[in-house]
Amino acid sequence: MGLLEGQTAIITGAASPRGLGKATARLFAEHGCKVAILDLDAALAEEAAADIGEAHIGLACDVTRRADCDAAAATVIEAFGHIDIVVNNAGITQPLKIMDIRHENYDAVLDVNLLGTLHMSQAVIPHMRERKSGKFVNMSSVSAQRGGGIFGGPHYSAAKAGVLGLTKAMARELAPDGIRANAICPGFIATDITQGKLTPEMKEQILAGIPMGRAGEASDVAGCALFLASELSSYVTGSEVDVNGGSLIH
Ligand code: NAD
Repeated sequence: MGLLEGQTAIITGAASPRGLGKATARLFAEHGCKVAILDLDAALAEEAAADIGEAHIGLACDVTRRADCDAAAATVIEAFGHIDIVVNNAGITQPLKIMDIRHENYDAVLDVNLLGTLHMSQAVIPHMRERKSGKFVNMSSVSAQRGGGIFGGPHYSAAKAGVLGLTKAMARELAPDGIRANAICPGFIATDITQGKLTPEMKEQILAGIPMGRAGEASDVAGCALFLASELSSYVTGSEVDVNGGSLIH
């Protein structure tokens, strides 16, 4: 018996083949969940959905656009009947130093990571409120907690710290409606987000700071998302869970 039997989920930014969203979609599907994979490109989203099984759908949705999020939520409700879970996973990063961040860099990174999380949540909250139930899992980052140190610049750290604040505020405001919201702070996970831009020296330095001595796998993050989306975490809300091999033990 799966942990998400009969449930449905929206996962944003889940078309990336080696990404955290896709791994989460696959694990949710294995646990009986119907998944809507949302990403920028419709064909890639559909391909990713087909790859995890027949019951799932892929939709184009740019989370920076509220109208896209509203349209996607409506389509998912029509297709699946209801939405139980939203994983706000879409994100981009840029390896810039503080003085190199231009307004357009700030906007790009804040818009996808933070505004996108707000938009997709707002698109689904009225539906969840009506049903008096729902779960949000928002993807933050170790960058939010320690001010970068892996790849993203200060604007990425700020956006992901914003995600933590937003998650806690959502948890507080939505708890009376039976809706939980939690954040995951992944450490260094092997995906395509760094686009092969990490040098062997950078990688060695990062690994030296991880007590478990290895980069995380996308499946490590998916497992945590499953816990936060399932009834195993029924009394957990407003929390941030570290998935980082011990990088931040203090
Ligand atoms: P990824 O680059 O593999 O996947 C990100 C996906 O988001 C892509 O499919 C991309 O098309 C999509 N996307 C970008 N802009 C979008 C938009 N406007 N609307 C909808 N989709 C959009 O990255 P990943 O490593 O799987 O990262 C997933 C999440 O985890 C991100 O939020 C990232 O910041 C966070 N994270 C990753 C790591 C890591 O080490 N990989 C660490 C901490 C946090």
